[in-house]
Amino acid sequence: MPTTMTIECPECAAGAELRPDAMAGEVLQCPDCGVELEVISVSPPQVELAPTVEEDWGE
Ligand SMILES: [Zn+2]
Repeated sequence: MPTTMTIECPECAAGAELRPDAMAGEVLQCPDCGVELEVISVSPPQVELAPTVEEDWGE
């Protein structure tokens, strides 16, 4: 039985495959728009936009 899981990018709505060994907390990159997605759940597969690290954390 195939274990491939798919998620939907919340940014562009493109579908992407979630590896069977993916774990919650892992960060993926959307193959379509390139945004970073954090896996918040693998059962069911669910992702959210990962917090960007490009912003200046500042003081
Ligand atoms: Zn996307």
